Amino acid sequence: MNILVINCGSSSLKFQVISSDDGSVLAKGLCERIGIDGAITYENVRDHLGKEKTVTQIEDHKKAISLVLDALTDVKGGVIRNLNEIGAVGHRIVHGGEKFTKSVVIDDSVLKAIREVSDLAPLHNPANLTGILACQALMPNTPMVAVFDTAFHQTMPPKAFMYALPKKYYEQYKIRRYGFHGTSHKYVSEKVAEYYGKKPEELKTIVCHLGNGASVSAVKYGKCIDTSMGLTPLEGLVMGTRSGDLDPAVVSYIADKENKSAYEVVQMLNKESGVLGLSNGLSSDFRDLWKARNEGNKDATLALDAWAYRVAKYIGAYAAAMNGVDVIAFTAGVGENDCDSRKLIYDYLGYLGITIDDAVNAATRGKVQEISTKDSKVKVIVYPTNEELAIAQETYALVKDLK
Ligand code: AMP
Repeated sequence: MNILVINCGSSSLKFQVISSDDGSVLAKGLCERIGIDGAITYENVRDHLGKEKTVTQIEDHKKAISLVLDALTDVKGGVIRNLNEIGAVGHRIVHGGEKFTKSVVIDDSVLKAIREVSDLAPLHNPANLTGILACQALMPNTPMVAVFDTAFHQTMPPKAFMYALPKKYYEQYKIRRYGFHGTSHKYVSEKVAEYYGKKPEELKTIVCHLGNGASVSAVKYGKCIDTSMGLTPLEGLVMGTRSGDLDPAVVSYIADKENKSAYEVVQMLNKESGVLGLSNGLSSDFRDLWKARNEGNKDATLALDAWAYRVAKYIGAYAAAMNGVDVIAFTAGVGENDCDSRKLIYDYLGYLGITIDDAVNAATRGKVQEISTKDSKVKVIVYPTNEELAIAQETYALVKDLK
């Protein structure tokens, strides 16, 4: 079955068509600047036809989806003859609140529930919903599945997910830790168990999803018991442009000093902070930061050191939370590709009995590779994530038996 995977942002829409038979990608692409002007980039991966970018007016998400479907069925570059060859659509949904502990087939009650938790992700969930509605309008008979970034983390116990606030804020507004990147944490923790010939129930795993957005999770015997992101993706690690953990009093302090609203300060914490902020605006891209560091730039050096230090502290915390750790997995853009940043982290981990083969680490980019030595007490592995494939697999599992 061909699964169309849709990842809708407020002004962008990423898509892939994945075959459930072998997980191969038939086509993929991106609609950008929706509602502004617009462009669609499309790639027929199956026939190696390369990328094609077309600048065209895209007034809304429905138009974006219709352009995607046109490209997929195009006589020249398409990968399907007609829309009947798409068996299901899997939608990435950022926030499932406490309502969704796993992926679900979308019906009216699911749409209502996603709408109800939109307060928790006001930028993302409405865009995700728009994507679903646009697909439903154009493919009314195709089953659709919602796959939530938060669902995998719903197994966290209250001691991990409750903030130490007056309880009414949880009861009235559901303010708590939710965690994000759940599809990735689930996929990588399960794949790593498979790699080691174990069931997830047999392992204590720390997954370090280190991309532009970044989070760590503690997965004990197949269940997430803690994760670094919180009510929103702002908490936890130092990220590309997000500050991660800080004293909440910083918000009112800056707001007072600069006559800003709390919202404006939080925007700054989301968009101008992290390694971008620490490097004095140099870059949020780790390749730029390493280049500058190697040329002696002190701000870039501090940014990378502070980034790695925070990851190392979370690994220590989660090893303690699980009373040990069997496997530490690095994934996402930095975790998969950046051996120097990985080294900054693992240099802190000797106390866990971890030893790393530096040469193997240095040679590992974008592929599955154990980087710890044979006698290391904890296995350390690079395992590329694949959120689109995970969404396609979850979607297929839910729709394959539908009549
Ligand atoms: P992601 O959010 O997972 O797509 O990760 C994006 C980030 O990964 C970029 O901002 C880069 O900083 C980083 N990245 C990607 N490729 C490399 C690479 N080859 N070396 C270092 N960093 C990389």
